[in-house]
Amino acid sequence: MNQSRVALAAIATLIPLAMITTVYTGRPALQDREEQEKITVVASFYPLYEFASRVVGDRAEVSSLVPAGVEPHDWEPTAEDVSRGRAADVLVINGAGFERWADDMQAKVVANTSEGIEFNYREENEAGDDEQGHEDAGGGGVNPHIWLDPMLAKHQIDKIRDVMASSDPANTDYYNQNADRFTAELDSLDAFIRSELADCNKSDFIAFHDAFTHFSERYGLRQHSIHGVSPEGEILPQTIQQIIELANGFGINIIYSEDLIDSRLADTIANEIPNGKVLVLSPIEGIGNEEQAAGIRYIDKMKQNIANLKEGLECR
Ligand SMILES: [Zn+2]
Repeated sequence: MNQSRVALAAIATLIPLAMITTVYTGRPALQDREEQEKITVVASFYPLYEFASRVVGDRAEVSSLVPAGVEPHDWEPTAEDVSRGRAADVLVINGAGFERWADDMQAKVVANTSEGIEFNYREENEAGDDEQGHEDAGGGGVNPHIWLDPMLAKHQIDKIRDVMASSDPANTDYYNQNADRFTAELDSLDAFIRSELADCNKSDFIAFHDAFTHFSERYGLRQHSIHGVSPEGEILPQTIQQIIELANGFGINIIYSEDLIDSRLADTIANEIPNGKVLVLSPIEGIGNEEQAAGIRYIDKMKQNIANLKEGLECR
């Protein structure tokens, strides 16, 4: 018998022993007990899922209600989703009217990550007839896309940290450290955006939907959009005509599309303007499984957006 055979024989003897130990001690193995003690966090949709995951690290199980790569605006929970939300120790939401279903879920603890943000304006639903917007959703008519402004994303991280610390005080230091680390990355992102957009010919751009309101306010840009506060719903021919005229008026040749929607409408408009071109400006409302598997996260998406914005705004 050579050495590797001896080793194999030893493993073959040990494996059944280990199994017997697990079965007959009458208590779950150590790893199982740790899993059971972990608190469960359910996040509403992608950015909240990533933000919550970053804060809780390996001390809680995080899952997302809206599946990867699904547009969350018109998403509605199934009965199974409602049970998941109710069973979770903490439900993390964006708030500001985005999750119209959140109150009905009756979660044990809700981390409303937009709570405490002072919105200094009221959203005007420019798109008018094409959708209902969020005005009737308890958001008080504010634009819900706060995560696209890294400084407001920091507020969201702080909220998650505070709720986690009160739900699971034993891990407070750990949650604080994780939150600090992510907050520092968001500060670097903010500095990166400021330097990338420091020297641009234009400040007007045409987004697919009204997702960059807070982002634009933060960085001194002017967002126009094809759709209103949600990327879904019908667009009237006169709206398309207005966008074409707007593009011509500002000398804009790039029309922004999104990663989770059909880009044909953006293509149609781009075809009607001189040197028209479509680029993606992601509202980061979802990241598909393939991109997630490739390690693409919120900050990567923000940097892709900045690269595409630089082209549209003619920055150096
Ligand atoms: Zn949106």
